[in-house]
Amino acid sequence: MIKTMSDEILEVTQGEKTQNLINEYEKRIFDLNQLLEISRSLCSTLEFSTLIESILYTCMGQFHVLGAGIFVLNALDADSFHLDSNYNGIDPNPNIAYIIPTSNPVVSLLESSNKVYTVDELVAELPDSTDLNMITTLKPSLIIPLVQHNHLNGILLLGERITLSDDAGYNDYEKEQLGVIASLASIAINNAALLERSSTDMMTHLKLKYFFYNVLTDKLDNALASEGHLSVIMFDIDFFKRFNDTYGHACGDYVLQTVAKIIKSNIRDKDMASRYGGEEFTVLLNETRMEDAMIVAERIRSKVEQFDFCYEDQHVKVTISIGVATFDSQHNPVTSPKLLVDQADQALYVSKRSGRNRVTFADSKVISDVTLDK
Ligand code: GH3
Ligand code: MG
Ligand code: MG
Repeated sequence: MIKTMSDEILEVTQGEKTQNLINEYEKRIFDLNQLLEISRSLCSTLEFSTLIESILYTCMGQFHVLGAGIFVLNALDADSFHLDSNYNGIDPNPNIAYIIPTSNPVVSLLESSNKVYTVDELVAELPDSTDLNMITTLKPSLIIPLVQHNHLNGILLLGERITLSDDAGYNDYEKEQLGVIASLASIAINNAALLERSSTDMMTHLKLKYFFYNVLTDKLDNALASEGHLSVIMFDIDFFKRFNDTYGHACGDYVLQTVAKIIKSNIRDKDMASRYGGEEFTVLLNETRMEDAMIVAERIRSKVEQFDFCYEDQHVKVTISIGVATFDSQHNPVTSPKLLVDQADQALYVSKRSGRNRVTFADSKVISDVTLDK
């Protein structure tokens, strides 16, 4: 049989079509594998900041955008969204507070529609809203609601897109992919927020004791393996009962909350403060030697002493006693978290016994003296 030219053209076009189809399926398999990897990574991250970072990098990589940011609900009071500090490649105006109250119409629209919007589309939906200006200053190419169980728990903004073609828009396939990533991200954010709430003391907004021990166990393992350092500071408010007895329980609560704030504002983000018990607090300073831990402890002691505590027009003086213990593979190679905390507690006991409002380090003498004493 003799092939005509049109037969040959048909064969070539069919061959091309088959190849295109194969390419298309290969891309989809690749994308599915990517999605599986993203899902695994997002669902195994419970630490809030790491999670947000991971969501942003994922989206920037997948959709070739130069920047991304995310508004998340305030974990503890959940009455507004704020722009998480892990944004990337977008340029917030330092004079604008990037806060969106949950009562804002933008929130209800994103929550009820669960749709992806461009700024123009959002403005068309809410023409009278002045609140959109704040989002517009970030110049997003796309605004994506993160919805879990019909509740908005995040607003993802994608920045400018890098494309070879003139069209920087997103096609249906990409929008579908975005939808999948957005739902994975919102599940992960929900899980991280649940952990955040359940591990936090609602009165002082510091971590709870069990969570402190979880993290301490982890960090101590690392310090043991790397022969590094790690310090624990323990605080106890002096004569705290007096505030309750003289001015009432609410005054005691005010003192507790204020001391917690002073502690929190005098440590680094990577350090962890916890409410260990009633009026006792701890701070975990990872990779920190005794000298630096003593500086932090002394700074907090002095800040509390100098702070003007004022409850219902009454000025009250507050002081705290402090104990510090440091894991050190040479001088104090403790292997149990409980033992390290006990040492800080013993040093605290020495501070109490020797006049309060002071810092004591748990050196070998303190540890052995107190053990004999008790
Ligand atoms: P010291 O200097 O020896 O530490 O004296 P102190 O009075 O602080 O001693 P103590 O540890 O016995 O007192 C702790 C008090 O803290 C007892 C308890 O009623 C009170 N407390 C515990 N939790 C709370 C709380 O959440 N709110 C208030 N207002 N008081 C609390
Ligand atoms: Mg106490
Ligand atoms: Mg006390």
